[in-house]
Amino acid sequence: MRYRVSMLHPHSHLFEVEGVLADPGPAPVLAMPVWTPGSYLVREFARHVEGIQADDGAGRRLPVVRLDKHRFRVEAGGAAQVRVRYRVYANELTVRTAHLDGSHGFWNGANLFLYAEGRVDEPVELTVEPPPGWRVATAMDGGPARFTARDYHELVDSPVEVGTHALATFEALGKRHEVAISGRGHVDLPRFAEDLQKIVEHLGGLMGGLPYERYVFIVHLTDKRRGGLEHERSTTLAVARTAFFPRESYEETLALAAHEFLHLWNVKRLRPAALRPYDYSREQYTRLLWWFEGVTSYYDRLTLVRTGLGEAKGWLKHLGEEWTGLSRQPGAGKMSLEEASVTAWVKYYRPDENSPNSAVSYYQKGELVALCLDLALRRAGGSLDDLLRGLHARYAATGLPEDGVERAAAEALGEGAARDFFDRFVRGTGPIEAPLDPVGLRLSRRVAQSLDDKGGTPPRKNGDDPAAGWLGAEIPSGAKLAVRTVREGSPAGTAGLYADDEILAESGFRVDRSALWDRMRQVGPGGHLRLTVFRKDELVEIPVTLGHAPEEVVWLEPVPDATPAQKSAFQAWTGAALPER
Ligand SMILES: [Zn+2]
Repeated sequence: MRYRVSMLHPHSHLFEVEGVLADPGPAPVLAMPVWTPGSYLVREFARHVEGIQADDGAGRRLPVVRLDKHRFRVEAGGAAQVRVRYRVYANELTVRTAHLDGSHGFWNGANLFLYAEGRVDEPVELTVEPPPGWRVATAMDGGPARFTARDYHELVDSPVEVGTHALATFEALGKRHEVAISGRGHVDLPRFAEDLQKIVEHLGGLMGGLPYERYVFIVHLTDKRRGGLEHERSTTLAVARTAFFPRESYEETLALAAHEFLHLWNVKRLRPAALRPYDYSREQYTRLLWWFEGVTSYYDRLTLVRTGLGEAKGWLKHLGEEWTGLSRQPGAGKMSLEEASVTAWVKYYRPDENSPNSAVSYYQKGELVALCLDLALRRAGGSLDDLLRGLHARYAATGLPEDGVERAAAEALGEGAARDFFDRFVRGTGPIEAPLDPVGLRLSRRVAQSLDDKGGTPPRKNGDDPAAGWLGAEIPSGAKLAVRTVREGSPAGTAGLYADDEILAESGFRVDRSALWDRMRQVGPGGHLRLTVFRKDELVEIPVTLGHAPEEVVWLEPVPDATPAQKSAFQAWTGAALPER
């Protein structure tokens, strides 16, 4: 199919799209994808399609019959080709959607392009007609305005940025890399490109070379960090304009880039067999998302340590925060990683106030299970590096079978140990345990020391600091004291505090977060609070008896007096020295 995209009126947020299908047969069916790979949610891109018309390319109108929510049949009547024209409303700037306004355009192909059923494997041509002064960045071959893709899958896998973006280029392992930055922000582009180069060279080395000629980072600078989406030869990253300073924020940005870059192997080339080929008309299910997202998350921060872009200490803090976050989710005791993978379409991608009570994130728990698996493999003389490379070598061509990871782990760990590991951590809901001692680390626990305590760090040393009574409600910082979630079985839950309640006062006096925390410390475990909340528009009084705070805040730290063997195991694992205590 040949496509043409023009943007005559960018302020209208409408892309004008034309598709020409040769040899259409009597009644070709054209369909809009319902989802885009990498983002496991049915998004119904057809809802933004309007004004569809068809002709034979020579002036004869052809009838278009709407079949269902996303498919159209064209009565071709013997025409040699079918030309279909329509508009797509695009006003959602995320890494998975499409956007057009007076400043730039961006799309993932699944948002824009109808495909002819049964013909997604045929070569594709794309012509982009940008407004004057705009240029195109994409990983597809060709340019500046005409591109080719080997099939529809590549078209969908190649996001396109059109605008006045800044461009940096670098070479890594003999391949060309482009960084297209759209939007205004505080970025030092040459330095950012230099740091991306280190990541590319490291991960290229880890995976045995770069399997492309050219790779494109499309970076959107926006009001806040919104994530990334992986592709075979490119990625789109959406980060805050301010995401380049201070160091901790910049490391998050680099970790996001490393994450999406590693995905070019782990989920794009090494892909679940269940997702080969992609079916754009419906959900596709795999129990392996924990592997693809958890392992990739594990490597994103580890890559920063291994390249010297991040410090080992900061990484240990990050792992402690993730561990703490997992400890605070009753859902982790109910839902396994495999179930979280399969239910991503209705759970992970559609979170609500009850999610922490009922579900587990295959990113968060997956990252910690990857850590456990790596350390278990290292104790057995292997590593997760070897396992990942081995899986890629074996399954990149055919797809990773649902039991492929476990079978490969069994080869390294032994059948029984691998089954036990998967029963507990992947198929089961057992608490995370990692063999930390051989790499010179240990895990400690404590109670929270503030409403914002994310964990990852030892306790502040306030000897006379009284322990706060436990409420069990998550109250994010913000202008209002709004309850985000209420922990199942917690004092807040028992007392009848609800998610979305807005706390106004305690004992009849107005409170902010710090005053509320002070009261929780003052009355202590077993003490009473009298909360006044707005529940929607109704004022409600809720007496709460506080409980004993669980020791769920976790941090990792080097063992005292690490042995040379522990130090060298840490070094071999992370490429960095075991931090000083
Ligand atoms: Zn990912």
